[in-house]
Amino acid sequence: MSNIEYKKFGERQNWINGNYEHSNSNRNISVISPYFNQEIATIPDSDRNDLDHAVKIASSAFSEWSRLNIRERSEIMFQFKRVIESHLDELANIIALDNGKTLDDAKASIMRGKEVVEFATSLPNIFNGDSSQVADGITCTMTHEPLGVVAGITPFNFPAMVPLWMIPLAITAGNCFILKPSEQTPLSALKIAEYLKEAGLPDGVFNVLNGSKEAVEGICDHPEIKAVAFVGSSNVANIVYSRSTSLGKRALCLGGAKNHMIVVPDADLDSTAKGLLASSMGSAGQRCMAASVAVGVAEIDHIIDRLVSEANSYVLGRDMGTIVSRSALDRISGYIEEAEKMGAKVLVDGRNPISPKGYEEGYWLGVTILDHVQPDWPCAKEEIFGPVLSIIRANTLEDAMRIENNNPYGNAAAVFTTSGEVAKTISETASSGMVGINIGVPVPREPYSFGGWNESKYGHGDITGKSGVEFWTNLKKVTARWPESTESWKKYF
Ligand code: NAD
Repeated sequence: MSNIEYKKFGERQNWINGNYEHSNSNRNISVISPYFNQEIATIPDSDRNDLDHAVKIASSAFSEWSRLNIRERSEIMFQFKRVIESHLDELANIIALDNGKTLDDAKASIMRGKEVVEFATSLPNIFNGDSSQVADGITCTMTHEPLGVVAGITPFNFPAMVPLWMIPLAITAGNCFILKPSEQTPLSALKIAEYLKEAGLPDGVFNVLNGSKEAVEGICDHPEIKAVAFVGSSNVANIVYSRSTSLGKRALCLGGAKNHMIVVPDADLDSTAKGLLASSMGSAGQRCMAASVAVGVAEIDHIIDRLVSEANSYVLGRDMGTIVSRSALDRISGYIEEAEKMGAKVLVDGRNPISPKGYEEGYWLGVTILDHVQPDWPCAKEEIFGPVLSIIRANTLEDAMRIENNNPYGNAAAVFTTSGEVAKTISETASSGMVGINIGVPVPREPYSFGGWNESKYGHGDITGKSGVEFWTNLKKVTARWPESTESWKKYF
């Protein structure tokens, strides 16, 4: 496996007004590396006083930042992109250390986040202002205006990429931002803050408030925070959405997922086996785009045989990192045990794996594949968020689609087939915001926006692309009529 450099970060603080600042709260949270089962940092569990202070700082930075023109603000994004590229190895190692991703996976996630930075550099083209003559002598002009102080709350599983879905668009649009990263994986958010400063971002425009429930509830309630973007589990997404919007805030809250891959017998053997595995096992299954259920239509044993032999060639540490925490590892193992008891056939068992040398204390779980799972079992219905693929057998395409449609989430669905008709049918009937045809992780590339449906999202619109820009701005429409030149000026014409 590629070497994760062990490092201790000591006492990390909040990032406020362009510097590290101590919190008022006397509570601390321990950050544990899942590779080493060791504390690598502590962060403050910020309270409402800390939040008030961060909002005050962001608010005072707003007038100057929002007054800059869009070209000046987007210029920072050009610099930010270069800074990220020059620190790719450093940031990837931090992500690996507190999250458990492999270095390759961590780098890939940074590159995906960087696409949003690149999109933000193009905002001057989007903000060109629609203007036209709407009646004789009357023009209408429409502009995107920033909201003020806004906030983002992010999950553990993509500690750099998910914040990068939000920050570039929100701040380039002219807002000042407070990020509350996951308390499990806060270290890359603080690095991003340092990189933004290096890129020339004025102090106070971007702030990081570490913490947990109190900080999140404070963000929902704070009267000066105009918009909240959240990414995390559906349960918390729903709470944050309801609490924020009940107080008149704009909110977009992305939640959990249970994504299905429909596999039909005509699918290409090699790429389908690899695609099923990459989707369900990438990031050790800890991603909202992981498809954790494969619905096989009719006879697909030849594909399952290939899938199993591919799975047996997976190497922990090289192809898959760790689980984020000991409690998550126990929870995932519980799902496997339960499914086995209910009658699932364990085709590949990832329990008690051989840990990579030098990382023996890590939270490891290998590829696990369960066959003959029933649609109403917990492993088929609930978000496991680990390297577990459940295979459900269906007789017809209609049955398969019913299973997909019945699941309450709606992030992604995929179909593996060589038939255009099957692909068209699935993409038209899947109840999800992102659909893959022979692609197991159908994350749209920017500027196509990211976002699911149903219980995978609370609020309107998507988090990236033009939809993200709409979320972070208000539209202003100016209708103007200019009177005839007055007498006193006529002589100058
Ligand atoms: P989580 O919901 O536990 O935590 C997300 C954020 O909410 C964190 O910052 C955390 O501090 C805060 N939080 C947790 N419990 C809270 C509570 N009771 N009150 C207030 N705030 C609270 O999610 P997680 O475990 O960090 O991340 C995994 C989840 O995120 C999965 O469900 C995954 O599907 C989802 N996710 C979704 C997307 C998407 O785009 N839809 C992307 C990434 C992750």
